[in-house]
Amino acid sequence: MSIPLEASDILSSSLEDLVDLFDVRPSDAPRPDHEREAELASPKFGAVFTDHMARVSYTADRGWYDRRVEKYGPLQLDPATAVLHYAQEIFEGLKAYKHSDGSIWTFRPEQNAARFARSAARLALPALSVDDFIASLAALVRTDSAWVPTGEEASLYLRPFMFASEPFLGVRSSREVDYIVIASPVGPYFSGGVAPVSIWVERDFARAAAGGTGAAKCGGNYAASLLPQTQAQARGCDQVCFLDGTGTYLEELGGMNVFVVRADGSVETPELTGSILEGVTRSSIIQLLQDGGHEVRQRQIPLDELLAQIDDGTVTEVFACGTAAVVTPIGRLAGSNFDKSISDGAAGSLTMAIREELTGIQTGAVEDRHGWLRRLA
Ligand SMILES: *Cc1c(COP(=O)(O)O)cnc(C)c1O
Repeated sequence: MSIPLEASDILSSSLEDLVDLFDVRPSDAPRPDHEREAELASPKFGAVFTDHMARVSYTADRGWYDRRVEKYGPLQLDPATAVLHYAQEIFEGLKAYKHSDGSIWTFRPEQNAARFARSAARLALPALSVDDFIASLAALVRTDSAWVPTGEEASLYLRPFMFASEPFLGVRSSREVDYIVIASPVGPYFSGGVAPVSIWVERDFARAAAGGTGAAKCGGNYAASLLPQTQAQARGCDQVCFLDGTGTYLEELGGMNVFVVRADGSVETPELTGSILEGVTRSSIIQLLQDGGHEVRQRQIPLDELLAQIDDGTVTEVFACGTAAVVTPIGRLAGSNFDKSISDGAAGSLTMAIREELTGIQTGAVEDRHGWLRRLA
């Protein structure tokens, strides 16, 4: 049995003390109530942001300093700012949920904090502490708590990011860095109910390479995925699944991990080989499947084997997962010489059950038996 962690086991001080380190400088132009309520009534993912952002500055000499919550607004950057040239940037994505009693929670933020530190190390950026990461989320959410939407599958999407802010064209790691958290209210990912997506399996382009930055959550990985994504859409597919560098094994989508469900109830997901991003949703789903008695194997999954097993009925469901959509059924896999529908193009039953369990835990409707939720406000 796992013992739920208390926030005090993760943070070096109480969350209250850590949030107090953030100086709140209120916006002089917050959106009036009626404007905010109109935005919350029909949230547009990543297009509308709250009134404030949390921010911490860094220099090699001072370390992290000036923890603050300030007015959301444009950044003024020197054209020589390193990130604009060498893409030294990382980010995270997580959600804050308002429960029925008005309290505001987030899901396993210490996992995102740890991954952010691993991404920082790979991109030669300074590590931000778990304390500062979680306190920055709480400081922003408390200031903009009126922006956390209520309603089924509604949440406030939190986007922490860090970038090289030194104006210098020399190729070395930046001696000045900015860490910022912005927040965008989001509604259900699938507005018309959960619908299976179609996937183009990409053989010509890779997202990540052995020894590269695939396991880090950095903007550059996304830049590399945009051309294949555009081509996949032109071919009538919604998203791309990338293979490993040899074009043999399944890796993941541009921003989601993949799972394969077999007729015998066991489940497989590509093992973390170093070019796959370790999703928090992925590891949570592995745990929930195991709790439910499903055998979960992490291994390299050859594309050819998967296609044959879809044909012979060994594989019955395929799904993708990540924070934004939580769980997305995959109804079709297409590539240069194949086009297969899975579960007759419908959402699989285990896919939907795991989706419901996970969203239930996040929104407070299902018991959080692993102690994954952290209260922010
Ligand atoms: C963020 C991301 C995921 C999903 O991670 P979660 O922690 O589950 O949101 C998967 N793959 C890539 C490439 C990602 O950037």
